[in-house]
Amino acid sequence: MQIAFDNSYARLPERFFRPLAPTPVRAPALIKVNADLAAELGLDADWLESPEGVAMLAGNHVPQGAAPLAQAYAGHQFGGWVPQLGDGRAVLLGEVIGTDGTRRDIQLKGSGPTPFSRRGDGRAWLGPVLREYVVSEAMHALGIPTTRALAAVATGEEVHRERVRPGAVLTRVARSHIRVGTFQYFAARGDEKALRTLTDHVIARHYPEAETPLDLLSAVVAAQARLIARWMGVGFIHGVMNTDNMSVAGETIDYGPCAFMDAYHPDMVFSSIDQFGRYAFRKQPEIAVWNLAQFATALLPIMGLAHKEAVEVATRVIEGFADLFATAWEEVYAAKLGLSRMGEPEASLAYDLLLRMAKGQADFTRVFRALSGADPTTARTEFSDPALLDDWLPRWRARVGQNGPESARIARMQAANPAFIARNHRVEEAIAAAVDGDYAPFERLVRVLAHPFDDQPEARDLALAPRPEEVVRQTFCGT
Ligand code: AMP
Ligand code: MG
Repeated sequence: MQIAFDNSYARLPERFFRPLAPTPVRAPALIKVNADLAAELGLDADWLESPEGVAMLAGNHVPQGAAPLAQAYAGHQFGGWVPQLGDGRAVLLGEVIGTDGTRRDIQLKGSGPTPFSRRGDGRAWLGPVLREYVVSEAMHALGIPTTRALAAVATGEEVHRERVRPGAVLTRVARSHIRVGTFQYFAARGDEKALRTLTDHVIARHYPEAETPLDLLSAVVAAQARLIARWMGVGFIHGVMNTDNMSVAGETIDYGPCAFMDAYHPDMVFSSIDQFGRYAFRKQPEIAVWNLAQFATALLPIMGLAHKEAVEVATRVIEGFADLFATAWEEVYAAKLGLSRMGEPEASLAYDLLLRMAKGQADFTRVFRALSGADPTTARTEFSDPALLDDWLPRWRARVGQNGPESARIARMQAANPAFIARNHRVEEAIAAAVDGDYAPFERLVRVLAHPFDDQPEARDLALAPRPEEVVRQTFCGT
């Protein structure tokens, strides 16, 4: 099959990347192809599943028209500046324009060492590959902007981590892989020409209505405000919001130690390496602001203004995040609570519910789904002390009651409150089974999470909160 690549990033100057083919693997074996996504990209899923397709997905065959490369970028990791990161275990094969007209990257992750690998082996093991597949596709089904998973293949090779693990490659699809850290890479080198070129590229690709670097900053700030509000609406904790893991296209990217919360707590942290809770659930909006301030800083030299003036205008744009985020958050929580408006009383109702949920260790997803049902009082059973909800429920009832018939409320709320999220214990269970050669739990999880707002009675077990012994307390980058 001929893939109609059109590689705009590869046409940028050579210092943006290193041309490099993926490193072939010993024994490629298909795990899964995402047929729906393949169709959106105009790719033939049957071909992707053929030996030649699998060879491409494993990095053993570079298709005609591809221009494989590793992208250069820098970034702040946990607040510490790293002037050179780059794709250390990923290769961009090229870009395709989908049936919807959208240009998207096709990238192999776990494809072998690159000039940016530092001490890493350039590989991925099966666990993080399946995890990213499940969680990124779950996010997509929830309607949240995200990179996608086109395929997963096993390599037939061993990967050495704390233990010896089976190797795998994920094919990641993104509107682009350009990060805040890509801009920082050139800013740190004083390369204004590259900053201008990158700005033009990103504007043309993602924000055609923008004209200036300041417009671009505004557009990215708005996209990130909306994105983080969506995360906050499903209990998603990204876990490594480093500037190299923040996409300028406004997609969720880099599914390392991310997790959906079971029991709600605003301070929740899962990542084993986030000792001080820098990326805790409730801190995600302020960390986004911190990252966007780094983005603004990288753009200052090309704003065409005196430094002081550039700082002033950029600061105003960054400060705008707070209102944009508040508006997006209110929209998300109005929908979750079945309210047609989110004035002050409604917002305090929402905050009050979250406070009670934290106190009552209530399951985030299950509470909102229960409130979306015919008998919202069933939400009480999610609280360690059901009475915690007793004086909240009638207050909410009074507000929601002003808002049309009951059946409409239920339909509206069920479309905003998923029954199914990618629960940690289920993801880990699927990975453990896959390591033992049984992909059925992985397949089932992917299938159910593709329709998170449908009840799917046959999958009721996947909607349950973990039993105490099943609770996952830590997640790992798994690199
Ligand atoms: P991440 O934590 O996935 O955002 O990765 C941070 C940086 O480390 C990026 O530059 C990655 O490409 C690089 N990296 C992560 N894992 C590996 C690995 N196994 N081999 C080489 N580079 C890696
Ligand atoms: Mg990363």
